[in-house]
Amino acid sequence: MFNPIDWLLGLFSLDIGIDLGTANTLVYVRGKGIVLNEPSWVAIDKRIPHTPLAIGAEAKAMVGKTPGYIVAIRPLRDGVISEYDITKDMLEYFIRKAHQQVFIPFPRPRVVIGVPSGVTEVEMRAVREAALEAGAREAYLIEEPIAAAIGAGLPVTEARGSMVIDIGGGTTEVGVFALGGIVVSKSLRIAGDELDEDIVQYARQKYNLAISERMAERIKINIGSAYPLPEEMTMGMRGRNLITGLPEEIEVSSIEIREAISRTIEILVNLVRDSLDETPPELISDLMETGICLAGGGGQIKGLAERVAEETHIHTWVADDSLTCVAKGAGQVLENFEFMKQTLAVDDYQNPGGSAA
Ligand code: ADP
Ligand code: MG
Repeated sequence: MFNPIDWLLGLFSLDIGIDLGTANTLVYVRGKGIVLNEPSWVAIDKRIPHTPLAIGAEAKAMVGKTPGYIVAIRPLRDGVISEYDITKDMLEYFIRKAHQQVFIPFPRPRVVIGVPSGVTEVEMRAVREAALEAGAREAYLIEEPIAAAIGAGLPVTEARGSMVIDIGGGTTEVGVFALGGIVVSKSLRIAGDELDEDIVQYARQKYNLAISERMAERIKINIGSAYPLPEEMTMGMRGRNLITGLPEEIEVSSIEIREAISRTIEILVNLVRDSLDETPPELISDLMETGICLAGGGGQIKGLAERVAEETHIHTWVADDSLTCVAKGAGQVLENFEFMKQTLAVDDYQNPGGSAA
C-alpha cells in the first residue's frame, strides 16, 4: 500500500548493497562505491544480552581483552544467521552508519544483500526480515557467488559461461554462471578460518607452542601458500610454550606452513574439480576461454591460482580487490536494477516488501 511518509523518506535514502560476510561486512552506496568495511563482530555484555555493546571494528578490538562477562562474537561465522537479533542489530548499525556519512537521520534504503548460496528458505526470510526491521524499505537477496562474479567483472548475464571461487572466512562458494543464472553451485563451510586453525594446530603439535588465531591469520596472510613460491619465506611465530609456560618466538618457513594447510587447500581444490565435473560440456569450453576467477579474502592465498590452474588445466586468476567483489557486485545490481534484477535470488525481485510486509 502507498505510504506517503515512506515515499518521502525514500527520497532521502540511499540504495545500498551489503556483503554480510562471515569475516567482514562491506557496504556499497549507489553512486559512491564502498563506504564501509568492518569486521562482522558484535560485542555483548552477557548480563544484558539484548543490547550490543559494540559492533564492527570496535567489537573486534575487544576480543580477548575484556572482562569475562563481555564476549565478542561473529554471528555469521558459518555464513548463516545463527543469531537473528544480533544480525538485525548489525544490519541496523551498518545501514545507519552509511547514512550518517551523508547526514540522513532516518534511513529507509533499498538494499541488496549477499547471502551464501545454499542457505535455506527460512534463513533467507530471516535475513530479509532482519533488513526490513533494520529500516530497509525494500530488501532483496543475491547469492554471494553471483554477486562476487558481477563484482569481479565476469560476464554473468551473457550466454558464455564463467566461474568464480569465493573463499571467505567461514565459507567457500563455487559458482558457474550463464545468462544471469547459476548453473552449478557448491558451498562448503571450510575457508580462511580453517586455514588459521590448521596453523594453530601445527604450532601446537610441532613446537608445543600455543598461538592465537590472530597470530595464525597473520602467518597465513604473510607466508601461507598453496604452491611452491618463487622465493620461500620465513616469519617469526609468537606464542606461549606449553611446556615451560613462557613466551617464545619460533622462525617458521613458508614450506612448513604450506604443508600445515595442505589438507584444507586440497579440500578447496577438490570442490572446484567437483564443480567442473557437474558443468555441462558447452560451458566447460567457455571456461577454457574466460578462466576461473578467485574472489574473497581467501582468494589471495599465495599460489592458489597456480595450484587451481595446474589441477584443472584452466587458467585461473585473482579478482582485483578480491575482498570487495560481493559488495561491488550487489552495488552494480542496484546501479542497473531493471536489467540486473535477473541475477537476484529466485523470485525474490517479485517480492520486494518481503513476507514481513
Ligand atoms: P567473508 O566474506 O566470509 O566475510 P572475506 O572475503 O572478507 O570473508 O575474507 C576473509 C578471509 O580472508 C579471512 O579468513 C582472512 O584471513 C582471509 N584473507 C584476507 N586477506 C588475505 C590474504 N592476503 N591472503 C590470505 N588470506 C587472506
Ligand atoms: Mg564473502
